Amino acid sequence: MLKEALFYEKLKNKLVKCKLCPRGCVIKPNGYGNCNVRKNVDGKLYSMVYAKPVSIAFDPVEKKPLFHFLPGERALSIATVGCNFHCVYCQNWEISQAKPNEVPFSLVYPEEIVKKAKIHECKIISYTYTEPTVFYEYMLDIAKLAKKEKIKNTTVTNAFINKEPLKRLCKFLDASNIDFKGPEKHYQELCGGWRKPVEEAIKIMYENKVWIELTYLIIPGHNDKEKDIRETVKWIKENLSVEVPLHFTAFYPAYKMLDKEATKPETVIKARKIAIKLGLKYVYTGNIIDEEGSTTYCPECKKPLVKRTAFYSVENKIVDGKCPYCNTKIAGVWK
Ligand code: SF4
Ligand code: SF4
Ligand SMILES: [Zn+2]
Repeated sequence: MLKEALFYEKLKNKLVKCKLCPRGCVIKPNGYGNCNVRKNVDGKLYSMVYAKPVSIAFDPVEKKPLFHFLPGERALSIATVGCNFHCVYCQNWEISQAKPNEVPFSLVYPEEIVKKAKIHECKIISYTYTEPTVFYEYMLDIAKLAKKEKIKNTTVTNAFINKEPLKRLCKFLDASNIDFKGPEKHYQELCGGWRKPVEEAIKIMYENKVWIELTYLIIPGHNDKEKDIRETVKWIKENLSVEVPLHFTAFYPAYKMLDKEATKPETVIKARKIAIKLGLKYVYTGNIIDEEGSTTYCPECKKPLVKRTAFYSVENKIVDGKCPYCNTKIAGVWK
């Protein structure tokens, strides 16, 4: 099924300009955009992945990772092929870098996705695994229906999206885990993108009251310097808040980065300590075994409040969004 794209402009000679993400691809008839999933057919732009998910799974929300958003709930998680970045370390490159029809898909319309979520008692739908921006029309249609059914919408995203489509999405979006990948050089050299629009998108989500958590994948030799960690924390403090959770995660060799070693657990643990010292209240580690780094502590009385193992919340002491010991409000969406 072809679905006409929502954000584009028709140019002369049947060219089209896509306005969904900052790349702004100008596409010739029969050509595809940089994300491989938006095609110019006779002077009109179409999404080639509408209702064509290549992956539907049921994940604990903690796996996104979202640690301060409805702990213990399951998210119906969905992806089509395609991404507007081309990270050399992408864990999901087989689907993120694929073209439509290169990966087997099922035809599943938005109504059926919401129905599946209800049948499986998922309070959350997550648009994830690849880059949801590039399947925007599908995501938006599902999100509108889900909201009517009081199901929460969440994304896991690189946040490389233009302001107008993002603002429209924010009306239906409840939470997002955003990859905040590192300094500008990192975006350009490893992801084939650039950082400024990502910063803008994060601020828009925050201002629009979408619950956000950030993930910083530490790649040895690329974004693991203390200076990189400090600058990331500084940016969060200056532009968002010390209450925004930050997840430092370990890199494992994948895709075109098979020659690099995995990040040492001590590097990830150290990054967490630096960020806490600099004032962030909720900092976590991921992709390593670290009980302390996967626990939520009260920022005031320092008592453990939510304990997690392997992506599951196993113990949650938070009551009405507050620490039961000292009554401090714990940022997040808890019910
Ligand atoms: S969404 Fe795809 S086609 Fe549109 S500008 Fe971005 S990369 Fe290009
Ligand atoms: S943004 Fe995410 S999905 Fe896209 S290439 Fe990078 S790691 Fe893969
Ligand atoms: Zn407390």
